[in-house]
Amino acid sequence: MSQKPSQVLGGKVEVGETQEGISKRPMIDFHEIDEGLVEKMVYDALVWSSLHGLVVGDKSVQRSGKVPGVGMVHAPFALFPMPFPESHWKQAYELSPIFNELVDRVSLDAKFLQDSLSRTKKVDAFTSRLLDIHSKMLEINKKEDIRLGLHRSDYMLDEETKQLLQIEMNTISSSFPGLGCLVSDLHRSLLNHYGEYLGLDSRRVPNNPAATQFVEALAKAWTEYNNPRSVILFVVQPEERNMGGQEVAIVYFRAGYTPIDYPSESEWRARFLMEQSSAIKCPSISYHLVGTKKIQQELAKPNVLERFLNDKEDIAKLRKCFAGLWSLDDSDIVRKAIEIPGLFVMKPQREGGGNNIYGDDVREALVRLQKEGSEADAAYILMQRIFPTVSHTFLMREGICYKDDTISELGVYGAYLRNKDKVILNDQCGYLMRTKVSSSDEGGVAAGFAVLDSLYLT
Ligand code: ADP
Ligand code: MG
Ligand code: MG
Repeated sequence: MSQKPSQVLGGKVEVGETQEGISKRPMIDFHEIDEGLVEKMVYDALVWSSLHGLVVGDKSVQRSGKVPGVGMVHAPFALFPMPFPESHWKQAYELSPIFNELVDRVSLDAKFLQDSLSRTKKVDAFTSRLLDIHSKMLEINKKEDIRLGLHRSDYMLDEETKQLLQIEMNTISSSFPGLGCLVSDLHRSLLNHYGEYLGLDSRRVPNNPAATQFVEALAKAWTEYNNPRSVILFVVQPEERNMGGQEVAIVYFRAGYTPIDYPSESEWRARFLMEQSSAIKCPSISYHLVGTKKIQQELAKPNVLERFLNDKEDIAKLRKCFAGLWSLDDSDIVRKAIEIPGLFVMKPQREGGGNNIYGDDVREALVRLQKEGSEADAAYILMQRIFPTVSHTFLMREGICYKDDTISELGVYGAYLRNKDKVILNDQCGYLMRTKVSSSDEGGVAAGFAVLDSLYLT
């Protein structure tokens, strides 16, 4: 390639001052990028995905998902890493161990969990079942000496206030540590080849060790369990409850977060059995409950964090990333949300995307709940809607490159491991960037509205 960057980009590249030899603040107008260059990058990216396993099962192929290695398609991804301020990225990383510790502390306060969720329990059958398991563990005085958390705290950058605000904390089945790392590798590889022509530096895409660090945390927990003959059980679907006569050191839940994972009583019995066992649960029932939206909202109330943490600076850092969160028994806020529903998101106690209520549906749902006059409102919380900056992005789906307006959500993985009083691990473990079409309220990667992305630090 003999073109200079300015030729390819129509002179639109402005690279800011250099610090530590790394170019900063690229100002790129993606509209101006040479089409031929994009085509080359698309081709290279697709080849890279196939070679490095950035693939998922292809639903259109019948045997896909049943026979390993059959019917694969590249995972949806963004062609370029998303520009993101380095200061906010650092802030999100710094928050990770503090949130890990908070989850652990809150999980030990059984009364707080039961009291906070008591109204929700009456109207939400799924949360009620989880709380029942929790109560039974209290009755038998079940102790969890070794506690392993593999979490992901998600954030959006609010455009108007420039604040990094937490969307939610995931304590169960935190998704995409594997594919997320690969997208960072892909972007680094693309920028190593084409960065010069784009005025982008691959070193600005932070290294993302999420998969290896999660695996290391699992290995460390297994070592603490201290039985070399024991195994790690991955619960990936209800059928895979069979323990095979081997002692299980760790039960890792990649399922069990949604009512669909419990089609009959036997799945609930299995969850109960696992909770009762001496295996390390990732997550334990109390870690799972700490990750509910209701607990997120209760923790945001004045003076609640102080119950669990001593360090004033840590508390201030957490509070700074809390968006507005309200219970529906706050009549002033319900009135405001009926008036201006677009400023709010209404959330039930569910995980996995696609469950929240937005826009005029918020008004409709609130008015309906008011009319019913029941306690059904306790199933939900209200949250301030965050409006991140919209940017044009090249999105790759099924081998085709689309351009669309998008917004992004940054997740930071965290691992926590404790044996009695000894904290063995408390660290951030890489990140997940998801970029979604801005016209979609929610829409996950699997649903086809979002793609996997990485960061370009600015
Ligand atoms: P889940 O546990 O199902 O992932 P989330 O709270 O993460 O639930 O909500 C799902 C999606 O909805 C998020 O990924 C984000 O795109 C959108 N969302 C959630 N809360 C907000 C908010 N306060 N402002 C804007 N978008 C939000
Ligand atoms: Mg979640
Ligand atoms: Mg989420």
